[in-house]
Amino acid sequence: MATAIRTEATNGAGHSAAPSLPQYELYINGAWRAPVAGQYRPMVDPSTGEILGNVAQADIEDTRIAIQAARAAFDDGYWPNMGHGERSRLLHAIVDAIEARQDEIADAEMRNSGCTWRKANLMDMPVGLIHFRHFAKLADFEPLESIPQITFPALTYNIVRREPIGVCGQIIPWNFPFLMAVWKIAPALATGNTVILKPATFTPYSALKMVEIINDTGLLPPGVLNLLTGPGQVVGPELCTNPMVDKIAFTGSTEVGREIMIQAASTIKKVTLELGGKSPNIILDDADLDLAIDGSLWATFMHNGQACESGTRLFVPASLHDEFVARLVDRASRLKLGLSSDGATDLGPLISAGQLRSVESYIQLGIDEGATPVLLGARPTDPELANGHYISPTIFTNVDNRMRIAQEEIFGPVLVVIKYDSVEDAIRMANDTIYGLAAGVWSRDVERAVSVAERIQAGTIWINDYHIISAEAPFGGFKQSGIGRELGTYGLKEYTEVKHIHVPLNNTRESKFYYDIVVPQSE
Ligand code: NAD
Ligand code: MN
Repeated sequence: MATAIRTEATNGAGHSAAPSLPQYELYINGAWRAPVAGQYRPMVDPSTGEILGNVAQADIEDTRIAIQAARAAFDDGYWPNMGHGERSRLLHAIVDAIEARQDEIADAEMRNSGCTWRKANLMDMPVGLIHFRHFAKLADFEPLESIPQITFPALTYNIVRREPIGVCGQIIPWNFPFLMAVWKIAPALATGNTVILKPATFTPYSALKMVEIINDTGLLPPGVLNLLTGPGQVVGPELCTNPMVDKIAFTGSTEVGREIMIQAASTIKKVTLELGGKSPNIILDDADLDLAIDGSLWATFMHNGQACESGTRLFVPASLHDEFVARLVDRASRLKLGLSSDGATDLGPLISAGQLRSVESYIQLGIDEGATPVLLGARPTDPELANGHYISPTIFTNVDNRMRIAQEEIFGPVLVVIKYDSVEDAIRMANDTIYGLAAGVWSRDVERAVSVAERIQAGTIWINDYHIISAEAPFGGFKQSGIGRELGTYGLKEYTEVKHIHVPLNNTRESKFYYDIVVPQSE
C-alpha cells in the first residue's frame, strides 16, 4: 500500500530542481504520481536557506485529474454514505497514526515554515492533534435534525438531514501549514466529503508528511483525499471554476479571497473564507500589567506576527501609556532571534525574502507617516543567521489609527501602539478597520472586559489571553476577515448541505393541496 512519497531526482527530471535531493510527487486517487508536465520546485528552509527537496508543481491537467478522482470517489457513494460511526472510527485511527509519527511532522513544519522548535512541538502538534481528534469525534454526529411538527397544509412527517456537499477544493497559506491542513481536511472528511488540498507554494512539507502517514494507514478509499502541490495562480482558478468542484474553502489574504469569490461565482460554489486581520488588543486601565505586557508580546510576536489573528494594534490608556510602553520595549528587546531549530529561539525567520522586504517597507512607511519607532527592527549581523530571512521586533508609538501601518496587515514583527483617553474611544478605533477577525481585552474586572468584548466587531475575543483557538469554539471573521467559521460544530456544518424530505401522513385525494390549484377542471 505504501507507495513511495518521494524518489531520488534523476538528472534532468526536474525543471529548476536542485539535483539529488528527495523528490515529492502529487497524491492523486490514492497514489503518488509525477506531474504531467514534469515541473518541480525546490522546497526551502527559511531559517537556513537549505533546500529540503524538490516538490511537484501541479498544472491545470493534474488539477483536472485530481478533481475527477475526487468526483468519482464521491459519486460512487461509498465514502459519503458510510455509516457515521464507522467513519468516526476510521478517522480516530488516522489521528492515532499521525500522533505516532508526530515528530516527523513537527520537524517538517519547523524546517519548512521557519517556525521555532518550541512552536512546532509545544503548540502546532498538540493543538493540531486535539483539533483533528475532535473532528474524528464529531464525525459520529447525528445527521438528522428536527423541526417543529408541520400541520399546514397537511400533517407531515419531516426528515431534515445533513449531507456532505461533495468535492471540496481547499487552499491554505504558508504561516501555519500543518494546523491549516488539519482545519481543512478533518471537518471535510468527517462529514463525508472528498478533498483536494492545495498547500501554500512555500510550505508543502508537513502536508506531504501527513498525507504520507494517512496513505500508509490504507484506510481511506482512493480519491477521497488528494494533495496537489503547486502554484496558487494555476491550481486555484481551476479548483474555483471547475463545475465538478462543489465547495472552495480558502485561508489566506483578503486580496486572494476576493479573487476566489469572483471565480467561484461562475458555478455558484459554496465558499468559506478565512482571511486577513489587524486585530485590536485593548489594555484597560485596571489590567494586571505583568500579565498584559507579556500577553501583548505573545499576541503580536508569536511566529513573528505571521498569524492572521495577531494582536498588532495595541490600545493603551493615556494614564498607563509611558510605563506600559517602556516595559513592553524592555521585554521585546530581550526576545531571542535565532535558528528555528535552536530550543532557545523566541523568534525565527520570516517565511521569505519577499516577506522580509515587505515588512521592512512597512517599517519605513511608519517612519514616513510620522510614527515613532521606540524599538526599531533590524536584520541581525550574526553570520549563523545570514542565510535566513530574519528581522528583530519593531514597536511604533505616536500612531494614529488612520495611518496605513495601523490599517494594513503587515504580517511581521511590527506592533503599533495607539494611545486612548476613554474606553469609548478605544472601542470606536478598534472597530475602525475593514477587518474583524479577533481581539484581546485585558482587565482585572472580567465583567467590564466582557462588556467591551460585546462591542468589538470580531469573531473571537480573548479576555486576559490571546491566540487560544479551541477545537470546540467557532473561529472566523466579521467584515472583510472572511465568510463562515472553522472548528467545532460550526466548522462541521460548513461542510454540509441541509436536506428536507417531506413525508405526508395522509395521502388521500382530499388532503392534497394541489387538487385546489392545478387540476383538469373536466374529466
Ligand atoms: P495568499 O492569499 O497569498 O495565499 C494563500 C493560498 O492561496 C496559497 O496556497 C496560494 O498559493 C493560493 N493562491 C494564490 N493566488 C491564488 C489565486 N489566484 N487563486 C487561488 N489560490 C491562490 O496568503 P499567504 O501569503 O499564503 O498567507 C498570508 C495571509 O493569510 C494573510 O493575509 C493572513 O491573514 C491570512 N491567514 C488567514 C487565516 C485565517 O484563519 N483567517 C489564517 C492564516 C492566514
Ligand atoms: Mn501571499
